[in-house]
Amino acid sequence: MIKGKYADCIPPYIKKIMHSLLTSGYQAYVVGGAVRDLLLGICPGDFDIATDARPADTLAICRQNGWKTVDKLGGNFGCVVAVVEHTAVEITTFRGEGYGSDAHRPEQIWYCDSLQDDLSRRDFTVNAMAMDIDGTIYDYFGGQQDLAHKLLRTVGNAWQRYEEDALRMLRACRFVGQLGFTYIQTDRLLPSFGQQQTPYYLPVNFSFPTDHCAGLSLERVKKELDKLLLTEHAGHGLMLLMSTGLTDAICRVKEHGSYTETAILPELRHLAGLKQNTRFHCYDAWEHTLQAVDNSRRDLAIRWALLLHDIGKGLPGIRCINKEGQPGDHGHEAKSAVMAETILRRLRYPEKFIREVVWLVARHMRFAPMLITGRKTLLHWVRTEAASGYFRTGSDMEAAFTKLVEVFLADMGATHAKNNPSLMESGRQLGRQVIELAASYPIHTSELAVNGQAISQLCPPHTVGKLLNYLLQRVQSGNLPNDKETLLAALQKYLSKQQEDL
Ligand code: ATP
Ligand code: MG
Repeated sequence: MIKGKYADCIPPYIKKIMHSLLTSGYQAYVVGGAVRDLLLGICPGDFDIATDARPADTLAICRQNGWKTVDKLGGNFGCVVAVVEHTAVEITTFRGEGYGSDAHRPEQIWYCDSLQDDLSRRDFTVNAMAMDIDGTIYDYFGGQQDLAHKLLRTVGNAWQRYEEDALRMLRACRFVGQLGFTYIQTDRLLPSFGQQQTPYYLPVNFSFPTDHCAGLSLERVKKELDKLLLTEHAGHGLMLLMSTGLTDAICRVKEHGSYTETAILPELRHLAGLKQNTRFHCYDAWEHTLQAVDNSRRDLAIRWALLLHDIGKGLPGIRCINKEGQPGDHGHEAKSAVMAETILRRLRYPEKFIREVVWLVARHMRFAPMLITGRKTLLHWVRTEAASGYFRTGSDMEAAFTKLVEVFLADMGATHAKNNPSLMESGRQLGRQVIELAASYPIHTSELAVNGQAISQLCPPHTVGKLLNYLLQRVQSGNLPNDKETLLAALQKYLSKQQEDL
């Protein structure tokens, strides 16, 4: 036990709960992620409390204090959720767990009286610490030492802990990404994985019981995958996901009352070790992908698009070898887009999200040639997109192009270009130009600088809609600026020409 300086970091509403439990003669500790984050100097997202009070006693204490409790419908054994100062707090009775055939849920749960027993069921040493109301840290498994060395390690034997609960394997990848830690395990070591010259290289790889994922629900897997993709060091977490074979694992989906198997992400496998043209690339296709993900903003559509943007590379019909003997993947973006759609649909993402990601993947190569061809091609492209019918409003198109520029720059920054500041600046400039253009293009007649009322003075009411569409088409095809005076003048000219023709 080490006396700490963290008492002041416990928020007053948490202290209130702890104090009430303590004065009723029970133990009370902050546990898990909050302790880890406080020791790392990070502001915890939420505070969980562990106590030896049984749920009925905890409920009685909440009632005495006038705190509302939320029924978790038996979803989490021994857990009382109290709402204190408008914040929901989980107060969980110390417990032990015994695992059986389920891939995630314990078969047996029992209450226990010792903090150490409760902490021993937790997944990683850095998540298995507790802190009392005075800020004293209780660390039975070397969590503080692992925090200091930035190591992620299971409490007890890793293989066994993963066999108990397969979700912990995915959580391991997510915490590597979230904390930027190195994963370690002392048993079942495998040879190195990855390319030595990259930040993602694993000098030692680990064997995980990935077969156990078969009993995990797709919802749980997806939740962890999405969380992982949104972490600061996602590339490292994804490297562990790939190296341990979790990308190739299978989970299950319940639909219409029965279970079907679903592969997680086996389509990524061939990227590992896939050579690329050394004129542009410093990494193989997998490590390039990881670097591109890490270069990008933490937005789910952008990160999924980058994870899948080169997935078509190296495949038959795409891979070729040029005169210099260098590999190339002409047209890979179209193939990647088709594969991305299949993958995201299999993983049951919402249609709108799939469309967004696929749109980004399909277009990620459009910028590169424009670094040479310039503004004219750019204009033509934006006009075509505006007239494609894909976007409902101009701001939809502007938002899509903004994300596409982010994808393009993250991709570019994962090649030799990252060492060429002026080339990167040209990329950023091109990005700014395209967003500016996209922002200025009307998609819908409501975005024209004139409305139906303004033109109804010039024409019969039943022709207003048709004339607005005429103007929209001319603005979208680039031969009229979207400006009120010009549009009205053009309309007048068009109408008088029609009169003459009659
Ligand atoms: P964060 O909230 O930042 O995602 P966390 O560590 O709080 O991280 P939670 O999923 O909120 O993670 O879980 C709270 C705590 O419960 C963990 O810190 C860990 O001690 C324990 N825990 C959660 N899931 C598991 C699991 N599958 N196996 C063992 N212990 C777990
Ligand atoms: Mg938490």
